[in-house]
Amino acid sequence: MAENSNAPKLTALKGMNDILPPASARWEWLEAQVRDLMARYAYRNIRTPLVESTALFVRGLGEVTDIVEKEMYSFADSLNGEHLTLRPENTAGVVRAVVEHSLLYEGGKRLYYMGPMFRHERPQRGRYRQFHQIGAEALGFAGPELDAELILLAQALWQALGLQGIRLELNSLGQPPERLAHRAALIAYFQQHAAQLDEEAKRRLHSNPLRILDSKNPAIQALLEAAPQLIDFLGTASLAHFESVQTILQTNGVAYRINPRLVRGMDYYNLTVFEFITDHLGAQGTVCGGGRYDTLIEQMGGKPAPAVGWALGVERVLELLQVQALEVTAPVLDAYAIVGEVSAWPQVLLALQTLRGLGLRVQMHSAGGEGLASIKAQFKKADASGARYALVFGADELRAGCVTVKSLRAANRDAGVQTTQPLDNIAAWAQTLQSHPDTSAR
Ligand code: ATP
Ligand code: MG
Repeated sequence: MAENSNAPKLTALKGMNDILPPASARWEWLEAQVRDLMARYAYRNIRTPLVESTALFVRGLGEVTDIVEKEMYSFADSLNGEHLTLRPENTAGVVRAVVEHSLLYEGGKRLYYMGPMFRHERPQRGRYRQFHQIGAEALGFAGPELDAELILLAQALWQALGLQGIRLELNSLGQPPERLAHRAALIAYFQQHAAQLDEEAKRRLHSNPLRILDSKNPAIQALLEAAPQLIDFLGTASLAHFESVQTILQTNGVAYRINPRLVRGMDYYNLTVFEFITDHLGAQGTVCGGGRYDTLIEQMGGKPAPAVGWALGVERVLELLQVQALEVTAPVLDAYAIVGEVSAWPQVLLALQTLRGLGLRVQMHSAGGEGLASIKAQFKKADASGARYALVFGADELRAGCVTVKSLRAANRDAGVQTTQPLDNIAAWAQTLQSHPDTSAR
């Protein structure tokens, strides 16, 4: 539709993108791959609201985190003043739902989600204000085999998508007492080098020194080379958990690197943390991150229960598919309906309804307001649509109760062939037009 030049221009917000065809086919394809894979790993879908009470994220993610300090879209409900936030991530929401509905009553649950998240960040390649995550969470399970299962699931996804060059980095954050001992050593170390700290690091020195390890400032990163490492503070149980995860990964041929500085952005993690990173996306190279969060469920008011999960950035994964020039199979039209005269619409729509009911993908020609185009012009549209066949509903055909079926593609089995088919027995010939397995017909 043409724009009305007098009306003020309305545009999408900065950092929030429309996802339009044909690109949306890549999203659908990715989502279909994920659904299939999640079913194979016995993870079931959960959908929680996009808006939650602000307190949920403050309590869940921690007050001194990038997200809570500066990235949340928070507002007061204009009707009752409640403090609300557009979800910046979905682990807190999932945990809230799990607790609220006692989902762990009968044992552990494996869950996955897909959907938009909102963070007030500076938009750039791979970083948006509305972006999308796919996440998997295994709640109520303490063992390292779940950490490994989730990593293997992500690995299987990269493989299913055909992606290459994604490496795995692992670390263990140990348990809270171990973190506390490390924290004291870290504060002492940073105090010795106070002159090299930036404002943010100084502010976090006492509130959340671990977060300084996450700093993107190169000067701080240099300082971190000699900083005390958490792994040296882990006790035997934490180390054993970490080693079990690694043994499973090794047995499964998953390559990884231990990165002692990997701490992740949220406070709720303990023991295993991991990230999948690529060098093919510039600065925004982390495609997936996760780890264990054994204390979060209790912190959210539930009966204490362990959990582990990850979330991936859909935009980054799709961008990687594009960078690696991986083709995505978009659905192809089986047929394009060409119509001789407007009086034919009732019969045409009746026939197309039957074809679609049998599972075929059919587009009908439609005029933009000036009446029907010539048959020749409609054939051009049929060709451009990518449809494998043209169905010609001309006046002569309809009088005879027939439709002309013309093969449009050189790749068709019956390339170049034109036949006349009866409209009173569509089922007898419909399947010959279909290229894809018939999954939708009943
Ligand atoms: P980063 O260090 O890049 O800011 P993060 O640690 O904040 O990432 P997580 O909260 O772990 O990211 O989210 C998991 C994944 O979601 C990230 O690895 C990334 O792929 C994706 N992601 C996070 N923030 C954004 C964003 N603003 N735009 C697009 N994708 C994002
Ligand atoms: Mg971030």
